[in-house]
Amino acid sequence: MQSAGHPVAGVDYPQTFQVMDEWFRSDAACRDYIRQLRWPSGFACPHCGAVGAPWAMAGGWLRCRVCRGETSLTAGTIFEGTRKPLRMWFLAMWFVTSQKNGVSALGLQRVLGLGSYETAWTWLHKLRRAMVRPSRDLLSGAVEVDETYVGGPEDGKRGRETESKAIVAVAAEKSGRGPGRIRLRRIGDVTADSLLPFVQSAVAPGSVVHTDGWRGYAGLAEAGYQHQVTVISGGSDPAHEVMPRVHLIASLLKRWLIGTHQGGIQHQHLDYYLDEFTFRFNRRRSRARGLLFHRLAQQAVAVGPAPYRAIVNPADSNGSTMAGE
Ligand SMILES: [Zn+2]
Repeated sequence: MQSAGHPVAGVDYPQTFQVMDEWFRSDAACRDYIRQLRWPSGFACPHCGAVGAPWAMAGGWLRCRVCRGETSLTAGTIFEGTRKPLRMWFLAMWFVTSQKNGVSALGLQRVLGLGSYETAWTWLHKLRRAMVRPSRDLLSGAVEVDETYVGGPEDGKRGRETESKAIVAVAAEKSGRGPGRIRLRRIGDVTADSLLPFVQSAVAPGSVVHTDGWRGYAGLAEAGYQHQVTVISGGSDPAHEVMPRVHLIASLLKRWLIGTHQGGIQHQHLDYYLDEFTFRFNRRRSRARGLLFHRLAQQAVAVGPAPYRAIVNPADSNGSTMAGE
């Protein structure tokens, strides 16, 4: 495997399903790949610091040749504690990244022949957690910011009042006439206490932030942004013309949630779907699906494990999870 910055097709990642299928026939092959992703410049023993190829032991354990200390290959990754062959995880990562809109839990259960729907559902949530790059860059330049409402009844409620819908804050870079990179985050309400922290976690200071005249955005200039306000008055200039990018994102998000996942997503799980949508959207121009597989695998070995219980009942943290790359 080459440098993490410029992975090469056919060397660092498989470019087709056939190649992927051949590369990852055995668990040993999957373990080799994980090892190179975790230690791209060679295994470094966490016990004694020695650098050098370890002995590969049964069960995916690595034994240091210097101190003989053992290290679990999958500890701290999303594969930690799995009882299924790693090959099945690799197939799951391939299906998730090779299909334009991703795959539903039912679809994954069918294609992998998994015995239970819950397993497929949990795997997808673990993979979604790996879609957030911990050290992602902030959006910059000119950025549209608005909120949208997801789920619940399609009509009846208007404006910013909502009961059953989740509120999702949307930030979209202006890139020509269309959107560049995006960030999404579920927020508990539309007060400044929710909106300002969202902008600060998504957009670099000094950027132009374009919003409507909602008072929740009033503190942006004080927070170090160039605040561009377009007051949307009833009648003229509908919101989708003034803020075309965030409204495009919002409608694509809703279509994806209904189309791929049949809607019906509980609010506390929505954060992870936002992560997946953002991962896909920000890489929508990537022609190499295998590269997406590689990025997902890279992040899958870099994040902490997410036990089933933590996924089913995440602390309702009022949107502290930030959807990013
Ligand atoms: Zn050692």
